[in-house]
Amino acid sequence: MSEPGPSTRVIRAGLPDPEQGEPFLPGPVFAAPFHVTGDPYAAPALYTRYGNPTFARYEEAVGSLEGAEAVLFSSGMACAAALLLTNLQPGSVLAMDSGCYHGVRRLSETHLEPRGVELRLAPPAELAEAARGADLLWLESPSNPELEVYDLAALAGLGVATVVDNTTAGPLLQRPLDLGATYSLTSATKQMSGHADLMLGYVATRDAERAQVLRDWRRDAGAIPGPFEVWLAHRSLPTLAVRLERACDNAIAIARLLASRDDVEGVRYPGLPSDPGHEVARRQMSGYAMVVSFDLGSAERAERFLAAARLVTDATSFGGVQTCAERRARWGGDGVPEGFIRLSAGCEDTADLLADVEQALDA
Ligand code: PLP
Repeated sequence: MSEPGPSTRVIRAGLPDPEQGEPFLPGPVFAAPFHVTGDPYAAPALYTRYGNPTFARYEEAVGSLEGAEAVLFSSGMACAAALLLTNLQPGSVLAMDSGCYHGVRRLSETHLEPRGVELRLAPPAELAEAARGADLLWLESPSNPELEVYDLAALAGLGVATVVDNTTAGPLLQRPLDLGATYSLTSATKQMSGHADLMLGYVATRDAERAQVLRDWRRDAGAIPGPFEVWLAHRSLPTLAVRLERACDNAIAIARLLASRDDVEGVRYPGLPSDPGHEVARRQMSGYAMVVSFDLGSAERAERFLAAARLVTDATSFGGVQTCAERRARWGGDGVPEGFIRLSAGCEDTADLLADVEQALDA
């Protein structure tokens, strides 16, 4: 049989072999300690901070999608903290894409720089130069919220340990480890779980020693998720490919509509042939994800758009089944214009969404 397609892979990912009278996906294992007599390390499970069968099943599932070992954390930011703190120490150099998720920048500025880590924040064109002699290179592609696309193979080929935050794409649309990255980070809070109801993250790597360092960090920092959240995420995984297909179709349709209007500026979506990142995205992605960004010129018009839209929920985050958007400058920290909107296309019917976006733009 040829390589199974994405829907086939997610539907069975991490499921145990069939057993008479057992469910397809066993329920979450709720336990702090487990029964253990004698050597605790010889037991299959001892204490959930050290590991849990529900974690292991989901790690196997997402690991199979990444072609790597996966280590689960309580959120995308817990993954970021684990990666930064296990790779850097006083005197280390961290080269970072200046447009990456603001939480990761804030963590680095607040907790790493004062401890003697040199932070080199660089815009896209200067990132390769900033990475020279660095201990860790950190980037995001497509970046959130500005949707810059980086040439992952070129940057991962610089010989520096490289983290690619793959949250906006996820493993079905882009596999950074295949392009040479050392680590791929995904906030599973977004489309991996897809229902805007939990927080979770994982790091994938093909280096067994690095994976073990992350597992040890998780145990010692206590950055573990709850078994129920992990089970819910696993429960949502089989629909990932169909949700993505619809969301990506909706995203390109909305991007085209926005790009056709004279009263909308700076539309970014890597799937638009006119997008500056399109050629690189076409080479390294198998789909362009669900996030679209654009500028409505002023905070007032952006707020009017959000208030008038009925099928576009005003909320942060992305990757859920409901279409969401927000005026990104309301948070501060991203350096985007006041009228800048980040929109995450959901799984509604395309015609309904287009009609709603259009009437909200006209409001
Ligand atoms: N990386 C990116 C690109 C994100 O957009 C986010 C959250 O929005 C994170 C990391 C952090 O993930 P979490 O919110 O699950 O901690």
